[in-house]
Amino acid sequence: MPIGPGHELMKPEANLLRELPSVDRVLTHPAAAPLLERYSRPFVTETLRGLLDDLRQAIKSGNDLPPDRLQDEFIITDLKEKLVRASRPGMVRLVNASGTILHTNLGRALLSEAAAEAVELVARHPVNLEFDLQQGKRGQREGAIESLLRELTGAEAAAVVNNNAAAVLLGLNSMAEGQNVIVSRGELIEIGGSFRIPEVMAKSGAVLREVGTTNRTHPRDYAEAIDENTGLLLKVHTSNYRVVGFSAEVELKDLVAIGRERGVPVMEDLGSGALVDLSELGLPREPLVGERVALGVDVVTFSGDKILGGPQAGLMAGGKSWIDRMNRNPLKRAVRCDKLTLAALEATLRSYVQSPDLLSEIPTLRAFSRPLEEIEEGGRKVLPLIRERLGPDYELELVDSTCQIGSGALPTEEIPSKGIAVRCSDLNAEQVARVFRRADPPVIGRIKNDRFILDLRSAGDPESLVPNLRSAQDGSER
Ligand SMILES: *Cc1c(COP(=O)(O)O)cnc(C)c1O
Repeated sequence: MPIGPGHELMKPEANLLRELPSVDRVLTHPAAAPLLERYSRPFVTETLRGLLDDLRQAIKSGNDLPPDRLQDEFIITDLKEKLVRASRPGMVRLVNASGTILHTNLGRALLSEAAAEAVELVARHPVNLEFDLQQGKRGQREGAIESLLRELTGAEAAAVVNNNAAAVLLGLNSMAEGQNVIVSRGELIEIGGSFRIPEVMAKSGAVLREVGTTNRTHPRDYAEAIDENTGLLLKVHTSNYRVVGFSAEVELKDLVAIGRERGVPVMEDLGSGALVDLSELGLPREPLVGERVALGVDVVTFSGDKILGGPQAGLMAGGKSWIDRMNRNPLKRAVRCDKLTLAALEATLRSYVQSPDLLSEIPTLRAFSRPLEEIEEGGRKVLPLIRERLGPDYELELVDSTCQIGSGALPTEEIPSKGIAVRCSDLNAEQVARVFRRADPPVIGRIKNDRFILDLRSAGDPESLVPNLRSAQDGSER
């Protein structure tokens, strides 16, 4: 049989097409049996069809095929590879060396051990999600979380929904549907992933009434805008930007005073919302939820997976009558959390109340608070290991770096960190980043001043930065 791919040696196209096996023939081949044990028949059949179509196209367009390419065994080997690739999960584990601790694109907060265990438990077993074990009848879905949140924030009542965007939507709809909501022009924020206050407002059925200017809003701007159609005063934490220079905003306590005087409730979208004082970790301060509640705000909303370090969730704390109203709103049913989220959130909040060592228990807080010396030491330890893995073409250096909190918290503040800068004699920074992205698991760094940098604070375990490089061939298939 000819081996070379030369055209004159190949059979004519029609013959080749005839040689192409049928789907049935391949599937009944003994070598295909293990594939059908491992995967569903429709999945195998569809994948095989695709493979045979590709071969047919290749023959028709006169591509040279190795002569034994059409043999059943070869096709089954290819089929197996295709199936393995197609059955890899779309969401894969990776290493966050991006220098952004709460990276929205990388899944934000990591759960604590306790939260992860709680998720596993409720995933595997029936639980008393809405069942009162004492009474033997239907119970409260968010009971445990509400008690913890009340304890942590001092609020009368609390509720939880899918994310903070949903909390804002539910709050606006429950408190001010069909009425005006007054917001400062300096707080009409957009955050990543298309959350924009004016658009959420429109969807909530409330009507946006902007006051003030981009850089300055005064108490009288709110006071003058209040009329019989006003349903709510809304304050929005400008999470992901700062207005500096000639600027003025109305403090929450002043807004609460105006609302009280005029009989209009006040809601605040706090964004991250911290439960512990970050300034005690040497970080700049984010507003504390409990403080805002103490200032008399009617409802405050914040995220579960930002600074709090829990699962994606939208938390609401405030006056009982308002929270009751949210809970009675049919929209609440549409944005309520599933049991996995509730389990993770309860465990996370429980740590805040009960743990003797909160900072080491919650990975996000641990990342914020790890001492620089410890980070540097980790870097020194792994640098030679990374160098060894990459080979002689790469040049590595331990450098000063900075980390962002991310997810819109403290946008202008950076936490000191250390990084490993990686250069390669024949690759540019983009190409080096690609080499690391193709590692297993992928390692995500960042490029700064044309240098690829692995940030050691956001990465957590320094050993995770030693890339497990795939072979070039395997890599190209991904
Ligand atoms: C992050 C953020 C949101 C959205 O929160 P999600 O939990 O991501 O839905 C809303 N408002 C502000 C001010 C934010 O910072």
